[in-house]
Amino acid sequence: MTDKIIVHGIEYLIKRTERSSLGITVERDGTVTINAPLRANLKAIERFVSSKTIWIRQKLAYKSQTNREKVRRDFVSGQGFLYLGKSYRLRLINNGTGVVDQKGISTSLRLHNGYFELLEREKERGKDHFIKWYRKQTEQQLQLRIPRYTNRIGVEVKDFRILDLGNRWASCGKKGTLNFSWRTVMAPIQVFDYILVHEMAHMIEKSHSKNFWRLVSRVISDYEEQKTWLQMHGVELNI
Ligand SMILES: [Zn+2]
Repeated sequence: MTDKIIVHGIEYLIKRTERSSLGITVERDGTVTINAPLRANLKAIERFVSSKTIWIRQKLAYKSQTNREKVRRDFVSGQGFLYLGKSYRLRLINNGTGVVDQKGISTSLRLHNGYFELLEREKERGKDHFIKWYRKQTEQQLQLRIPRYTNRIGVEVKDFRILDLGNRWASCGKKGTLNFSWRTVMAPIQVFDYILVHEMAHMIEKSHSKNFWRLVSRVISDYEEQKTWLQMHGVELNI
């Protein structure tokens, strides 16, 4: 018989067999299986798993990096591009007048009726158009969401910049300035919020101390889940 449990945001399959001790296997596809004696009780299993969380996280992160092919998206019709955790297909548009965004301003790329629409004649510069679009969305989300956390965390973000931070999501600059990667807006909104709150908490506490995580968990109680999601899927947040 198999059960499922979730501990610190990681899902485990419990396989009970005639054996005397507990063991963990991290499969190639990222499934984590606990091999347990037939009569092992759930509390004991949870305690065991809890003590191995760091090790399991490292294994999972390593697998997701090595197994996943490097993300490469082509600017052809049908290709999916991420925005706030959802994939939208690209449609190349071939018309003389071009397209306009929500504000009626003419643009080469827009998200419209569930599709990314890119002017066919601009596909060679597709990457630039997407980066520009993602930067704008990141900016809008930050403008909207920073004020929500200002009082709850008790810090004031003076300014933010949107940059290409390579494989980092965000960083905390001097004098209340945050740096954000444009890739963050590809993640689900809960993950985006976690990245934001993480950086805002750094404005109070520089290191990843107990105090720091307490601060984060006060605002985002399920932050472990978002953190794990990033470790597993972060590599996909790219074009
Ligand atoms: Zn940090």
